[in-house]
Amino acid sequence: MASIIRALRPLSRTPSVRLAGKRLAAGRPVQSAYAFSTTPRRREVDLSELTPTPITLLSETESLMADTVSKFAVEQIGPKVREMDESETMDAKVVEQLFEQGLMGIEVPEEFGGAGMNFTAAIVAIEELARVDPSVSVLVDVHNTLVNTAIMKYGDAKAQRTWLPKLTTGTVGSFCLSEPASGSDAFALQTKAEKTADGYKINGSKMWITNSMEAGIFIVFANIDPSKGYKGITAFIVEKDTPGFSIAKKEKKLGIRASSTCVLNFDDCVIPKSNLLGEEGQGYKYAISVLNEGRIGIAAQMTGLALGAWENAARYVWNDRRQFGELIGNFQGMQHQIAQAYTEIAAARALVYNAARKKEAGQDFVQDAAMAKLYASQVAGRVSSSAVEWMGGMGFVREGIAEKMFRDSKIGAIYEGTSNIQLQTIAKLLQKQYTN
Ligand SMILES: Cc1cc2nc3c(=O)[nH]c(=O)nc-3n(C[C@H](O)[C@H](O)[C@H](O)COP(=O)(O)OP(=O)(O)OC[C@H]3O[C@@H](n4cnc5c(N)ncnc54)[C@H](O)[C@@H]3O)c2cc1C
Repeated sequence: MASIIRALRPLSRTPSVRLAGKRLAAGRPVQSAYAFSTTPRRREVDLSELTPTPITLLSETESLMADTVSKFAVEQIGPKVREMDESETMDAKVVEQLFEQGLMGIEVPEEFGGAGMNFTAAIVAIEELARVDPSVSVLVDVHNTLVNTAIMKYGDAKAQRTWLPKLTTGTVGSFCLSEPASGSDAFALQTKAEKTADGYKINGSKMWITNSMEAGIFIVFANIDPSKGYKGITAFIVEKDTPGFSIAKKEKKLGIRASSTCVLNFDDCVIPKSNLLGEEGQGYKYAISVLNEGRIGIAAQMTGLALGAWENAARYVWNDRRQFGELIGNFQGMQHQIAQAYTEIAAARALVYNAARKKEAGQDFVQDAAMAKLYASQVAGRVSSSAVEWMGGMGFVREGIAEKMFRDSKIGAIYEGTSNIQLQTIAKLLQKQYTN
């Protein structure tokens, strides 16, 4: 299969602003417009002159991204989903294909081997992957929205030249913030970094780190001056083969079992000065900012998951299973539930795309990202649970994807900030707005 990104590049270079209205199989309208892109050339389009359009309208490039990733996911990942889940292992060939397809550097500029596309293109890719396998989706999500973004935003020119070409061509990235004693209270982290003559020495442990088994580059948050509290938190880049760095326990999980989640240890792990990411003491700001964007990715993952679970069950009830002489999807009791679920998926998607577009337009999107993640994970939980029930016994067995999607959905309410933490963010911002 030709690279998805190579196929999209010619289109992404066309500065067209045609407004069209074709419908896609996945139910998304398409438009050819680059108004919301983050690249400098596309900023030449004056946003104020554009008529507002439906939030789910995609540019031609984004919509081609959705179509091609969907095809790739169904054909190449689909047949491996069950086996990867059972063996709790990410297939190395799948990771290789993600790089070949250009899905590991979606927003990274072309000069560093990336596709130079916009944020929504990445969001659409994450969503389409999750429709087939949320584990593969989170691998791509963490790599693109957290790791690549952190280096693009906070790495200096040398750091970008050093790390981005690796991250776009074959080295998976991990984002290491959480620790055994600091989850929701992430900035209470205990990992310490000490300055040495020509670099830093890191000591401590990280927990729950996605992509640990596949990654070669780890962004690690450590405190360089605990007397300053969270203002001592600093971001570093640690390579897998660094002495003193080790991958400890691999977690056995309820869902997204093909995605690796591990404990990492740092025992006098010495890294050169050049592996400092950005500035000392700025790590907490970097983490907050990157996670605010990353949450839109998790919301997209949950929306894709919900749609995948819904479609799987819808096909079954409307084509395969008959009871009382009827397809079970003909019963009104079923139809109303199916319609309600699809409506909720559409609402989740609107929140996700709205948050993504606001980020691209340079508007404040923190509340939108929190609302999208909160709601999309709730919808994923509800829809995947209902989908199991709609399929009866066939939804409960480990043959199709129904029970797997249900298990996978639970993580949406936990990582990159639990649902309570999203609610707290939303409430805090609303309170600020409504306090006299
Ligand atoms: C599969 C998986 C992958 C992950 N990947 C990564 C990764 O790649 N990198 C990384 O750094 N981390 C990762 N995490 C960590 C994840 O971000 C944390 O699990 C999450 O932030 C919650 O922290 P915790 O598990 O310690 O739960 P806790 O913080 O202990 O929370 C437990 C419960 O208490 C509630 N709670 C806590 N504080 C409050 C409060 N102030 N108000 C109301 N309720 C509260 C929570 O909402 C939750 O319901 C991953 C976790 C998992 C499970």
